[in-house]
Amino acid sequence: MSSVSFNRKKAKLKQLLGIRARLALLALILVTPLMLERARSLEDTRSRQVELASAEFANLAKHSADAQQEVISSVETLLKSAAYIRASAGGVGRSCDLLRASVPANLPWIRSLSIVGKDGRIQCSTLNILVGIDLSDRAYFKKAQETGDFVFSDFLFAKSNNQPIVVAAYPVSAIAAGEDALIVATVNPDWMSKIMSNLGGRPGISAVLVDSTGTVLAAPADQASMIGRPLDTIPLLSAIADAAVGSDQAEGSRSFVAADGSKRTVDIVRIAGTDSRLIVSIDEARVSTAINRDIRTAYFQLGFVSLFVLLGALIAAEKLIIAPIEMMAATAKRFGQGDWSARAPRGRLPAEFVPLARALNAMAAQLGQRERELVASNDRLTVMASIDMLSGLANRRGFQSRLEFEWMKAQQYDCELSLLMIDVDHFKLYNDTYGHPEGDACLARLGEALSEIAAETMGFAGRYGGEEFCLLLPNTASDRAVEIGEAVRTAVQGLAMPHCTSSYETVTVSVGVAATRPSDGLQPGDLIEAADAALYAAKHRGRNTVVEHGFVRATDAGGDVAMAS
Ligand code: GH3
Ligand code: MG
Ligand code: MG
Repeated sequence: MSSVSFNRKKAKLKQLLGIRARLALLALILVTPLMLERARSLEDTRSRQVELASAEFANLAKHSADAQQEVISSVETLLKSAAYIRASAGGVGRSCDLLRASVPANLPWIRSLSIVGKDGRIQCSTLNILVGIDLSDRAYFKKAQETGDFVFSDFLFAKSNNQPIVVAAYPVSAIAAGEDALIVATVNPDWMSKIMSNLGGRPGISAVLVDSTGTVLAAPADQASMIGRPLDTIPLLSAIADAAVGSDQAEGSRSFVAADGSKRTVDIVRIAGTDSRLIVSIDEARVSTAINRDIRTAYFQLGFVSLFVLLGALIAAEKLIIAPIEMMAATAKRFGQGDWSARAPRGRLPAEFVPLARALNAMAAQLGQRERELVASNDRLTVMASIDMLSGLANRRGFQSRLEFEWMKAQQYDCELSLLMIDVDHFKLYNDTYGHPEGDACLARLGEALSEIAAETMGFAGRYGGEEFCLLLPNTASDRAVEIGEAVRTAVQGLAMPHCTSSYETVTVSVGVAATRPSDGLQPGDLIEAADAALYAAKHRGRNTVVEHGFVRATDAGGDVAMAS
């Protein structure tokens, strides 16, 4: 991998881990435990609700079984009273009359009540049509004779009309020994189904009452098609047919996978005193669908809340942290651009940032003040760097820059510019005679005189170096320059500073004059060279003289004015 792409990836990562990403991460760290806790409690709720639903259905099954039990008990009681009538009334005919008269009309689940003889033939019945029917082949008949006790039959088809029925039988011998008749009641299975109606109409739940062989005796109205069918032919319940029929347990609960692949929980409740069982099977997935829907909604809400919190945290961080930082960074940037008047807006910042903004503003004020001082001292240094301390005039550097300025100005306005180069005559001898300090004092005195002349002539005087001075005369033609040069020479001589080793007995100067109209072909250095050449000529001519570059002229003082070149 090239180092360029590596660096780019690193920069991207840095951007990713920028302050916003870190704040988002922080908000996530804060929100995650709350989310996890909420998810855990939702999962708890889910399993608790499934448990509750299961318990509720088991309870329903129990109630339904109790109701069935009550029906059967009422049938048993009825049979017992009929047996008592049969035992005490004497003949069959009388017993029949009494029976018909005494069967309560408010037991709609009893379809008929009959007295059956020892041979199995119905001797009398509340339904006349049944009289004479032979029941000796029925298992319940045989069992009642054998056990001498109450018997509740399996699912049967009536011999009279082939309708599905359940029969209860009770031997009269159980009350009066020696009696051989049996009381038989036909129970309407529809009624048993009605009792189970509270278990119907619930999605994912099927409930059936089965006999000892596993045939469905009763079922809620919405599952009525199962009545009369063996359990092992019903797809949803075939898997538990054996367990439901074979179990001796009064009640039990188990889980199994039905033929359609659904996971089901089944509750089996035995109806006491019979071989019947009530089976309630629950499709766990369908029962928990509603619960799952609620839980899913709760998860969505949780997601929205978390998203809201996260967004809130980011917006707050943007307003409370990032915006103030950017505001101060912008101020710092303006400082960097030299704008010390910029100030961090303290009023618009959160309280925590105010001390920082105050410090930043104070720093800016201090740095601004320091910069002003630096500019001032720099200006002073610049001035000092261009002044000669001995004469008080501009030094060579100051003179050069002034010359360039005046040159440009003259060029711009097409004016003449003149220059005088002034050199002290025999100054080495002066030093040798009077000493160096005296030489300095002499130079200082000459500086004063020159500065006065400069002021009078609108010129600019400078110390060019050693004992050599210069006088720049803007807007001055050569004639006038020569006049000023002569004035300088005269003024110096007029100072009458003794110089015993000079032929003039006083300190004198030689002056070289050059004048020009600056043009593109000329340089400021050309003017200096010309004035220097004139000065050289003046020295050559015997000193204490003014020489103009390019021509010769006599002066009033009698000094020679010579041609410089
Ligand atoms: P000329 O007439 O040809 O100019 O002769 P001169 O002696 O003046 O010229 P020269 O170049 O031989 O000597 C210049 C002298 O000026 C030598 C030096 O000691 C003296 N000098 C230069 N600068 C200073 C200064 O700042 N103070 C003092 N006291 N003397 C200086
Ligand atoms: Mg000199
Ligand atoms: Mg000299």
